[in-house]
Amino acid sequence: MEIEDVLKQKMKELMQTNSIVRHLTVYSLQFAVYCLLFTSLLHASEVSRSRIIMGTLVQIRTVNESMTEKELSSAVDKAFEVMEEIDRLMSNYKEDSDVRRVNRLKKNERMRLTPQTFDVIQRAKEFGKLTSGAFDITVEPLLGLWGFYSGGVSRLPDHDEIKKALELVGYDKIVLDKEKETIGFTKEGVRIDLGGIAKGYAVDKAIEVLKNYGIRNALVKAGGDIFANGRGNASSGWRIGVQHPRKENNLLATLELENKAVATSGDYERYFIVDNKRYSHIIDPRTGLPKSNIPASVTVIARDSTTADTLATAIFVLGPEKGIKLIEFMTGVEGMIVSDMGGRLVIDKSKGFDKYVKLERE
Ligand code: AMP
Ligand code: MG
Repeated sequence: MEIEDVLKQKMKELMQTNSIVRHLTVYSLQFAVYCLLFTSLLHASEVSRSRIIMGTLVQIRTVNESMTEKELSSAVDKAFEVMEEIDRLMSNYKEDSDVRRVNRLKKNERMRLTPQTFDVIQRAKEFGKLTSGAFDITVEPLLGLWGFYSGGVSRLPDHDEIKKALELVGYDKIVLDKEKETIGFTKEGVRIDLGGIAKGYAVDKAIEVLKNYGIRNALVKAGGDIFANGRGNASSGWRIGVQHPRKENNLLATLELENKAVATSGDYERYFIVDNKRYSHIIDPRTGLPKSNIPASVTVIARDSTTADTLATAIFVLGPEKGIKLIEFMTGVEGMIVSDMGGRLVIDKSKGFDKYVKLERE
C-alpha cells in the first residue's frame, strides 16, 4: 500500500532525528492515515447490484453518496426486496400471486386485494380511460391465445377465436371498491395481465425506498423501465441509452436525465415471426392483433415510471400520429416513436424530446 510505504520511509528518516520531534511527527502521520481511512469509509460510496426480477434484469446503481458501502448495500437490498414482493403479487406466472387468484374469480365474486395490487389495478384503469382503451390490462385472454404465456403457438389463431377472446376484453368489466379494496368482474372469464405497468410501478417503489434511506443519486433499471434520481456522475444527469429497435447491442440515442423516468416498449423484446411477419407481445385491445413495425419502439419520458411504462405500451398500440398527440396533451411527458417502414426507420418526436438527447446515432 502506497501510504504505508511513505509512512515507513518517513519513520526511517525520523529515527535519525531528535526523539520529541520524532514522536510528534510519528503521531501526526498516524493521525493523517486514520483520517484518510475514516473518510474513505464514509464516502465508499458507489454500489451497483443486479438481480433477476419479473423475468428481467433489474439493476440498481448509486453514486456519490455520503454513506458507507454497508449502509448503501442494505438500502439497495431493501429496494430489491420491495420489487420482489411486487413480482410475487402481480406475476402471471406465480400460482399464488394476487393476479392469478383474481384471474380465477367467477362472475360477480369479489376478492380483497393487497393495497399495492389494488393501487396498480386502479391506476391501470385510469390509464385505460386516458388512452381510450389502448392500454387495457384485460388483454390476458388475447395474450394466451397468441401463445405469449406458453412460449409460442403451433398455428395462428383464427378470426372466430380472436372474436371470442375480444368479448372478454375491456377495462370497464373490472369493478373496484375503493373502501373495501376489492375487485370483481362483470363477466365470466375476464382475466388481467399487469405486464405493461408492474415494472414501472416496481421501479417507482424502489426509488421511494432509496429516498427514504436518504439516497439522492440512484438509477433503477428494470428491463426497459428506468428512473434516474439525481444526476449520477455527470453534471447534467444520468446517461441512458435508447436501444436501437433493429440492431441488437446498438443504441439509437443517449439521453441525459435528472429526476425523470424513461420507458421503452419495443417489438424486439418478445415476439415471434410467421411467414416473415413479426408478432409482438403488445396487443391492440380493439382488434385483438399483436402490433409491430409501426411502431417498432416507443420511448416515453415522464415524472414517474408507472406513467412512462403505461404510456409507452399504450402509444405502441395508438401508433405515431395519435401517440404524439397524447404526449403533447400531457404535461411533463415527452416521447419518441420509431417506426420500421420496410427496413427504413422513421422517427417521430414530441416537441420537447430533444432537450433530453445528448447524442443521436444513425
Ligand atoms: P411493456 O413491456 O411495458 O411494453 O409491456 C408489454 C406487456 O404488457 C406485455 O408483455 C403484456 O404483458 C402487456 N400488454 C400487452 N398488450 C397490452 C395492452 N394493450 N395494454 C396493457 N398491457 C398490455
Ligand atoms: Mg409498459
